[in-house]
Parts: sequence; structure tokens; C-alpha cells
Amino acid sequence: MEMEDKHMARRKVAAGNWKMNKTPSEAVKLCEEMKPLVESDSVDVIYCVPAIDIVPVVQAVKGTNVKVGAENMYIEDNGAFTGEISADMILDAGAEYVIIGHSERREYFSEDDDFLNKKVKKALEKGLKPILCCGESLEQREMGVTMDWIRFQIKSDLTGVTADQVKSMVIAYEPIWAIGTGKTATTEQAEEVCKGIRDCICEIYDQATAEAVRIQYGGSVNAGNAAELFAQGDIDGGLVGGASLKADFGKIVNY
Ligand code: PEP
Repeated sequence: MEMEDKHMARRKVAAGNWKMNKTPSEAVKLCEEMKPLVESDSVDVIYCVPAIDIVPVVQAVKGTNVKVGAENMYIEDNGAFTGEISADMILDAGAEYVIIGHSERREYFSEDDDFLNKKVKKALEKGLKPILCCGESLEQREMGVTMDWIRFQIKSDLTGVTADQVKSMVIAYEPIWAIGTGKTATTEQAEEVCKGIRDCICEIYDQATAEAVRIQYGGSVNAGNAAELFAQGDIDGGLVGGASLKADFGKIVNY
């Protein structure tokens, strides 16, 4: 009962990852279309958008329940890092969250856990809330090393991060084989790993921190599977790619 109360105390969080989609004008149009669909008093709604869309999207969602996040950031405050954006830039543009360690960044941009740990610490130091992604490949799942791998990612990425900082974060469990493939993890698989992540946080920090941190599932979440996934004790919402660009996202928010 006590655990159930604590689960209820964590607000669900539905975050859209727009990836490299939507020009600024398309982004504003999507925000207008989605406005009535994503209204919710009980679920936190976040649009994580391309850097160039942050300012117009912040403007477009003003006065609504929608928060804005970036999809990436660099580890330095400023300087000769052509093409990068800093935590201060993201904050000044009006965003509150930043996705760190998405598997597409890990794979296509060779971001390793040492680098991601620096990003997590920089984001937190500046007051941005990281949505930290972790997840195993199909090969790792078939080899039976899923939880070992996830624990390695969590421990590496959170090195030097305090319990209070972790409480403000969102962790997204995203099995790589389920991202953009239409192949969702089963509810049992998703819950098992999200619970494993919470246990890992409890080991590194303490029970209170583990109970406070919000852990999402991501990987082909859609209007049809969100309710069952989000009903699990350790799944506090979803990180949603493809379906976040459609009216479906409203159904996911109001699962
Ligand atoms: C993602 O990009 O984080 C994601 C989960 O994508 P999709 O929902 O399209 O699988």
C-alpha cells in the first residue's frame, strides 16, 4: 500500500521526441493543432524539439500545460564549438528539459557514457532537467545481458550526480530494438527493466531517491499501448518519437 501511494505520488510524464522533424513554421502549426488534445491536469507534457524550433515552440505553447525541451546540448558553456548549443542557450530560449544519451546520438554521433556523464552534470549544474536515455540492443537482450548493460549506463552516466539532482531528472528506458520499429517491448519486459533501474538508483543513492525519480518507457509507444504500459508500478510515462508528431500524442497524454 505504501509503495502504491508513492507510485501515485509520481506524476506521469509524456515527452515527445520530435527528432529532426518540423521546420519552425511547421512546429508552430503542430503546436496549434495539438493544443486542445494534450491538455491535462495530471500528466506533465513535454515537447523535445530541434534546437531551431525551441524559441517558436516556447512561444506557441505559452499559457498551456506544455513544457519544452531540447534534444541535445554540449558540455561547455560557450566558445569555439561550431554547431553546438549550450545549456544556457537552451534555458534562455525558455526550455526546461534536455534529452541526453538518446540511442541515436550514442550510435550516429559516437556519444559514450563518459561524455554523457559530463552532459548530465552540466545540464544539472545549469538548472536544466535531463531526460537521460538508456537501453539495450537486440543482440544484448538475446545474450541475456540487458540489465547488466543498463546498470552500467546508469552508473556511468550518474557518476558524481547527487541524490537531490537525480530526483529532478527523468530516466527513459528505451530498448534500441523498439525505437521507430513499431515493435514495442512487452509490458512485462518494460516494467522489469524500469524496476531494475529504480533498484539501481536505490543501490547508488537511497529509497527516497529511487521513489522520487521518474522512469519512462520509450520505444514505439502509441495510442493503443500507452495505457497498459503507464499502468505499471515503475513506469511513470513515456518518451514518444513517431507518435508525438500526430494527434495520437493527445491520446497518449490522456491515456
Ligand atoms: C524515441 O525516439 O525516443 C522513440 C521512442 O521513438 P519511437 O516512439 O518512434 O519508437
